[in-house]
Amino acid sequence: MKFSDFNLKDTIQAAITEAGFTEPSPIQRDAIPLVLEGHDMVAQAQTGTGKTAAFGLPTMSMMKADGSVEGLVIVPTRELAMQVSDELFRFGKLSGLKTATVYGGTPYGKQIDRIKQASIVVATPGRLQDLLMSGKIKINPKFVILDEADEMLDMGFLDEIKNIFTYLPKERQTLLFSATMPNAIRKLAEQILKNPKTVSITKSEKTNTKITQLYYVVQERERDDALVRLIDYKNPEKCIIFCRMKKEVDRLVAHMTAQGFKVSGLHGDMEQKQREVTIRAFKQGGIDIFIATDVAARGLDVNDVTHVFNYHIPFDSESYVHRIGRTGRAGKTGEAITLVSPNELRTIKKIEKDVGTKMASQVIPTRMEVQNNRSDELIAKIAETKVTDKAIELVKTLQHDLDIVTIAHLLASMIQSENSVKGKDNIGLGLEEIALLMERAMTQRGGGGGGRNRRRGGGGGGYRGNRSGGGGNRHGRNGRSGGGRDSRNGGQGSRS
Ligand code: ADP
Ligand code: MG
Repeated sequence: MKFSDFNLKDTIQAAITEAGFTEPSPIQRDAIPLVLEGHDMVAQAQTGTGKTAAFGLPTMSMMKADGSVEGLVIVPTRELAMQVSDELFRFGKLSGLKTATVYGGTPYGKQIDRIKQASIVVATPGRLQDLLMSGKIKINPKFVILDEADEMLDMGFLDEIKNIFTYLPKERQTLLFSATMPNAIRKLAEQILKNPKTVSITKSEKTNTKITQLYYVVQERERDDALVRLIDYKNPEKCIIFCRMKKEVDRLVAHMTAQGFKVSGLHGDMEQKQREVTIRAFKQGGIDIFIATDVAARGLDVNDVTHVFNYHIPFDSESYVHRIGRTGRAGKTGEAITLVSPNELRTIKKIEKDVGTKMASQVIPTRMEVQNNRSDELIAKIAETKVTDKAIELVKTLQHDLDIVTIAHLLASMIQSENSVKGKDNIGLGLEEIALLMERAMTQRGGGGGGRNRRRGGGGGGYRGNRSGGGGNRHGRNGRSGGGRDSRNGGQGSRS
């Protein structure tokens, strides 16, 4: 199916073509015709499925661009407000539809001026309620959209939302989008929607099969080392590391920066300007690694995130789905990697059941494996290694007993081990151990399961510090020079 099958207004169709969209996503395919027919709608679809266009394209196609506010989109966070607003602007600009973005923490004046010129207002609940209650704005939108409704309720915005609707016209088309459909959402839908059509993206479509889901079992104290090693191993182009708490974000930012990664943190306490600058730097590639809390990263729309790391497994399945949905977007593949302690294995099972997918258990690669994975770097290393007469002699001698490939292999391993540090190499548990613990976690009441007896590697060991030589990687890390820096203060100016 093509977008042109929807018979959207020419200027909207042109914007779709300009955006490079060729095929509607499942939610767009189902939702757009219903919206065009004028129905209210409850739509369930997870993040990254193209909801913005699903409600944006049909409503904008019906707008007149007469200077009044015709559409109102309510979203949970400032970041989402900006993202949705940017996306809608892109679709609407050829149709003369302006957007205004409305959120707390910034002065009223400018926002009010913008609302007066806008066809579409994208707002967070708190500030929108303020503006309506104080009479600073009066709007009569024909289209009202609640985006990520479950998240808004989780954030405690139910009262604000109900109150906002008392200021909106009775004659309107209302669309509610939500990744999940708890009872509270159904109840809200009954109150604000009229004979809604329901659209739900079925399970197989809902679970993004383009995301490979892996987990690694590590001891609590190994988390940081395991994370660093996995990032070295996977060498992600762009990744997000999720933490449960803000202070964990701060600590990890310091840790990773000290290790020479270009990282930046994102959490709810950051100043608005700082957050915007950080997000922009991440989008534009100035920062490769984002360390974030769930709330801060909600709805974050960055298309080329190759990996999502869960530093801790999230408490609930919904967060897990939201988190991993940051990767594998817009038709790309992605990897979601979760670190768990033996005690948290039950949570893996629970999430697998809730989400309806399987996560594969993996063993943290050894330092040697990390290096082997970087064969290009090894080749470069070999290329710059001077061949001495002694080495040639050695090869000649070995050639009597061994074939040349084996000799090359041996020599390559020698170069590698020269570069690796002595001390503990193994982090995490082996596959059999994981299987055993998993079994125990399943049969024992109250979780736990221990994991006290480790098969490998004794204690103590400076894995940290002298890291393998092997040249810098994409993150600009380099043992000798100290490598890349946190570029938090760089990046673009903020948006006005
Ligand atoms: P959601 O709101 O469901 O999380 P978004 O609306 O933010 O998803 O869309 C996710 C990304 O996919 C955006 O960058 C958007 O531009 C892109 N996108 C949406 N629909 C399509 C499509 N039909 N073809 C290609 N890309 C799309
Ligand atoms: Mg969205």
